[in-house]
Amino acid sequence: MSLTPLDKPVQFLKGVGPRRAESLARMGILNARDLLYHVPRRYDDASTVTPLSRVEVGMDVTAVGVVRNKGVVPTRSGLRIFQAVIKDDTGIVTCAWPGQPWLDRALRVGDRILVTGPVKFFHGRQIQPREHTLLERASTAADAHPAARDSHTAIQETPTAISNPRAAPPADPHPAPHGTIFVSYPASEHVPQWIFRRLIAQNLDWLLRHARDEEYLPAADRGALGLTELSAALDTLHRPPSVDRTDAARRRLAFDELFLLQLLQARVRYRATRERPGIVFERSNRLIRALHDSLPFTLTGAQVRVLREIYADMASPRRMNRMLLGDVGSGKTLVALFAMLLAAEAGYQAALMAPTEILAEQHAARIREFVAGLPCAVELLTGSATGRRREEARARVAGGEARLVVGTHALIQEGVEFNALGLVVTDEQQRFGVRQRLALAEREPAPDVLVMSATPIPRSLAMALHGDLDISTLDELPPGRRPVTTRLAGPEDRAKVFREVARRLGRGEQAYVVYPLIEESEKADLRAAETEYERLRGEHFAGHEVALLHGRVPADEKDRIMRAFLAGEIGVLVATTVIEVGIDVANATVMVIENAERFGLSQLHQLRGRVGRGERGGLCVVIPGRAGEAGGSSATRERLEVFARTSDGFEIAAADLRIRGQGDFFGEEQHGHGTGLRFADILEHGDLVGPARARARGLIDGDPELARDENALLRRLLERRYEDRARLFGVG
Ligand code: ADP
Ligand code: MG
Repeated sequence: MSLTPLDKPVQFLKGVGPRRAESLARMGILNARDLLYHVPRRYDDASTVTPLSRVEVGMDVTAVGVVRNKGVVPTRSGLRIFQAVIKDDTGIVTCAWPGQPWLDRALRVGDRILVTGPVKFFHGRQIQPREHTLLERASTAADAHPAARDSHTAIQETPTAISNPRAAPPADPHPAPHGTIFVSYPASEHVPQWIFRRLIAQNLDWLLRHARDEEYLPAADRGALGLTELSAALDTLHRPPSVDRTDAARRRLAFDELFLLQLLQARVRYRATRERPGIVFERSNRLIRALHDSLPFTLTGAQVRVLREIYADMASPRRMNRMLLGDVGSGKTLVALFAMLLAAEAGYQAALMAPTEILAEQHAARIREFVAGLPCAVELLTGSATGRRREEARARVAGGEARLVVGTHALIQEGVEFNALGLVVTDEQQRFGVRQRLALAEREPAPDVLVMSATPIPRSLAMALHGDLDISTLDELPPGRRPVTTRLAGPEDRAKVFREVARRLGRGEQAYVVYPLIEESEKADLRAAETEYERLRGEHFAGHEVALLHGRVPADEKDRIMRAFLAGEIGVLVATTVIEVGIDVANATVMVIENAERFGLSQLHQLRGRVGRGERGGLCVVIPGRAGEAGGSSATRERLEVFARTSDGFEIAAADLRIRGQGDFFGEEQHGHGTGLRFADILEHGDLVGPARARARGLIDGDPELARDENALLRRLLERRYEDRARLFGVG
């Protein structure tokens, strides 16, 4: 990898010695580029800063001042309060931090600080900061940096933090009134705020000069996408002329992230779909028409549209690599079956893979019902079949007699031999990853791939996560579906809820009672589930068959319990999250979810989907934890209310994203760590995903290895960003 100035270790920069370099490294800032991309997490406009003379009791303020006096004040209760008197041009105010005496060592007289918090009355006005930022360190004479000298003068009460010369260019007859923006960097104990401000002041011009060489978007394309030039965007983020402008600047960096990710994924897609020719499936309509005519209902508009997309893929010589996105019950399996029949009538075999044996069995049974009477043999291949039967089944698959083959993911992984495998459908994408999809592409001939998603997620998120796949969305439920009634109950309603469940059991219906099980608190959670299980069995559901299912139950026992529940021999299944996603027990009509606040929204929706499968309307009751337990926050309430209000999986997924995003206000650096997205926020920048993908695919289709000279820069940026993964995906 050829190095550029921005790859220089951070130690080469002004103001960074070996010790500071070490502290920066601990924050993940290793080279010059890392510092350049270490942008502020927060901006305060001078216009939102309240002059100290106007700070009043009852307000919530952001204020800036220089520390005049400070000290720790003990109280009779033993609480130690750190107090600092701050001063600006207009007046002085006391700030108080109860219980934080150590701040006395962190702040010095002469420091310029920004505080945000409520104003209380305590011997006069007192700000109690929720947050504070050291804007400028009180300088000592020994500190000979020019920048430091500047800030030293700044401390003499002129309200400038970072003032951007561009904010009020001399030519401008109307200088911007709010030229002063207070920027806050993500800081650490060893590299505080003011150090970042100084490092940036000393090095930014140099950094930006080299950032100009990393602009890969021609001006025309930037214009079309409405994006700022790269170095200008970075300049704006570090030295904002106004707070408003920072959004557009961030949007530029968001695009870069989304685009590089798409580039990586486009490379995977290329390998999976272009490097070898796929199968051209000849459609005779023999089987498809027969299934169509035998259905007791008509397909939804969404099903028809999605099938058209799938048929077009399969008819083209390019391999299909497609994801089917749809809510629980939107009819994904039926769509998959039509695709499988197209493969079969074109002379190929189709495989459907499920994550567990029970699910595979259910799929096989349903498919057999649908194709009964059609000349199309269905084979179920699972690990539990042994001996002769297994050999015979494998022989039917290898010989080509079996046209539709249903099994677990082991079907492919264990190298079952097929006669002419043309299409692989996988159910539940998260357990069947990129690697396996690529492995399939190595087969001869390479089968088409259709992935059925387990959870509906917003389309833009799906596109960002699965850039190698094309996406088809089933956004319509079959008509006449009875929605599951959802109720939010309080812990005090528990007895009543269980009485209602017992009534349903009396009518021959079945129920789930679900407990969360989180790894960190696994032992306590298991105990809670076990205790409750005993109590339910002894008290509420005496006389009914009750079973307990959790991750520690051995596989064969788990299998036995699930089968007994499926057969109706068990009335109540008390379970941690292990309830099979996608399993259908039509007679199970009610679900109680305990400590519901500990589940994610999408997870709750998946669970609820288990009781909407039969003719009778399902009921789902969520019970948050007891008062005082973690569960009382407003985000929690909002989440559960959204869940109770809507049964639209896509809406729920979007809300999930929104609420969780808001949750980590300060977690910006870690935010999206898994996908490596620091700047891109799917909700805010979702509209950029499509253009980023189109651009990435166009580029890779024309130059799959990014080998051309004009793509050398992008290749370098990609390698730099995805050093580890690039190798995995065969980039570089
Ligand atoms: P998903 O796999 O998306 O959860 P399924 O394929 O299991 O959904 O469909 C749920 C139920 O709806 C099945 O019983 C299926 O036969 C039925 N179904 C599918 N499509 C339609 C339709 N267009 N009209 C009525 N019922 C349908
Ligand atoms: Mg094809």
